[in-house]
Amino acid sequence: MNISIIGTGYVGLVTGTCFAELGNHIICADNDKSKIDMLNKGGVPIYEPGLESLIKKNVAGGRLEFISDISNAVKASDVIFICVGTPSTDDGSADLSAIEHVSREIAKHINSYKLIVEKSTVPVETGEWVKKTINEFKKSSAEFDVASNPEFWREGSAIDDFMKPDRVVIGVDNKKSEEILKELYGPLDTKIVVTNIKGAEIIKHASNSFLATKISFINALSNICDKTGADINAVAEGIGLDSRINTHFLKAGVGFGGSCFPKDIKAFIYIAEKLGYPFGLLKEVDKINELQKKNVVKKLKDLIWNLKGKVIGVWGIAFKPDTDDIRSAPAIDIIKMLLEEGVKIKAFDPVAMDRAKSELGDKITYCKDIYEAAASSDCVIVMTEWNEFKEIDWKKVKESMHQPVIFDGRNIYNPAKLKELGFKYCGIGRR
Ligand code: NAD
Repeated sequence: MNISIIGTGYVGLVTGTCFAELGNHIICADNDKSKIDMLNKGGVPIYEPGLESLIKKNVAGGRLEFISDISNAVKASDVIFICVGTPSTDDGSADLSAIEHVSREIAKHINSYKLIVEKSTVPVETGEWVKKTINEFKKSSAEFDVASNPEFWREGSAIDDFMKPDRVVIGVDNKKSEEILKELYGPLDTKIVVTNIKGAEIIKHASNSFLATKISFINALSNICDKTGADINAVAEGIGLDSRINTHFLKAGVGFGGSCFPKDIKAFIYIAEKLGYPFGLLKEVDKINELQKKNVVKKLKDLIWNLKGKVIGVWGIAFKPDTDDIRSAPAIDIIKMLLEEGVKIKAFDPVAMDRAKSELGDKITYCKDIYEAAASSDCVIVMTEWNEFKEIDWKKVKESMHQPVIFDGRNIYNPAKLKELGFKYCGIGRR
């Protein structure tokens, strides 16, 4: 199929590349010319394992191209995926201005039948607005349909998740759209859930909200464990091995982050409220997450007393391992809180350093590895559970620290082992 992807960020670039890999002809378009120039020069603006080589292969195969002229992308394709950002606004609602902008661009340049697919995460009823907008601004008599096809993959394993999804969800309002999308996803050999557009829009918000609820649930329990001396990892295992519950998303930590959960929960709360249902459960999920980050600062005070003037080594900045994405990363919020307390931060992340520099500038010291970040510090705090943080030379770390204190914000270490090595240890819901 001839497909255009409008918005070549994390989602657009992975989606476009994977559809190209499945044999389609893909045009990835973006109004950020610098991004397109970089891609055309062989660069990749994001870190995602396996993506660079897959892009190269499909560009070389003539199935994948990058342009900044949206009009040509619209004209040349039969199916258009909208993959632009839908960030949070101050009141928690999703900012849909990029979706509206793209809808108008499509309307202006539509020249033949198009299936327009929302891939961006959007509140229920956005599809109606896309349809209305295109109809209002359309100059030709060309027909079109709108569909919803939310994305569920995880950054860090996006390509694998795309190619082997648990399911594909498509929201359509006619057979033609259903058949086009079923044909497109045919090679993936997975369950396709077909519903109407509003149903698909709700599925995405509900799915992220449910996963975030699991995380806030286990984080709330970690506070009970902190107060009682129970071990949250054992509690999580004891709960999660029940197949009705399962162990996924039951890892206590410094809070969830990333470009999706925090914003999608807020947007879902907002739209539910607007529809006349105040979604109290989700408000609590959001509140627990904010508290979890503040608790880190409180616990640090219990560990090393006054924070002013202290040096804290931060291991990991990305919101999760295997990505350079720092959007709404708990590490960023916690670093900012610590800076306000007068703490000096020395940080290291295996791939997110450049993005951290653009967010935090010269407010912190950027280190070349975990050892440099730990040196002369009063405490090291683990914010991201990178695999490479699991096997380390503890003797070297201990000798270089000002005080040997480890705050294990992701519960990746064995408390007994660290204590034996002479560290003061604090985890999340475990001591
Ligand atoms: P992103 O910011 O990385 O990418 C968005 C891209 O859209 C940017 O490159 C931007 O320049 C471009 N853009 C904005 N306005 C445009 C316009 N008018 N015309 C052309 N291009 C335009 O965001 P992302 O992480 O790729 O997320 C995109 C959407 O997908 C969001 O709604 C997000 O919630 C959803 N989503 C993200 C993930 C994820 O893991 N990142 C997963 C599932 C769903």
